[in-house]
Amino acid sequence: MTEPTPCLFCRIIAGEIPATLVYIDEEVVAFRDVNPQAPVHVLVVPREHVRSVADITPEQSPLWARLLHVAQKVAQDEGLDPDGWRLVSNVGPNAGQTVDHLHLHVLGGRSMSWPPG
Ligand code: 5GP
Ligand code: ZN
Repeated sequence: MTEPTPCLFCRIIAGEIPATLVYIDEEVVAFRDVNPQAPVHVLVVPREHVRSVADITPEQSPLWARLLHVAQKVAQDEGLDPDGWRLVSNVGPNAGQTVDHLHLHVLGGRSMSWPPG
């Protein structure tokens, strides 16, 4: 038997913790945020455990591009175009990253202010 992984998003990807999935393929999974900050709040996550955007290597450029295309597809599927939407990835403590598994937040369905607090 394999040991359960301690990473929350690895556990969601493994199906150990339930989540509302909106997209799934061999490399990327997208699911609704459990504590949504907008009418649409979806997390786009690579299956591979990467800590944050800061850790993406040049060799992982195809995965990075894949994540962006999935975010684009989620926004389209959720009906966020043409009103607009926001793509966020928090990196480290100052940015408020709470889960150390790279994820893109797709937020939309309301107007948002800038700059963030
Ligand atoms: P971060 O703060 O790292 O940028 O984003 C982590 C996000 O994960 C937060 O928006 C938080 O609400 C979400 N989150 C934390 N735990 C869970 C969970 O168990 N399930 C889901 N679907 N989202 C979670
Ligand atoms: Zn992980």
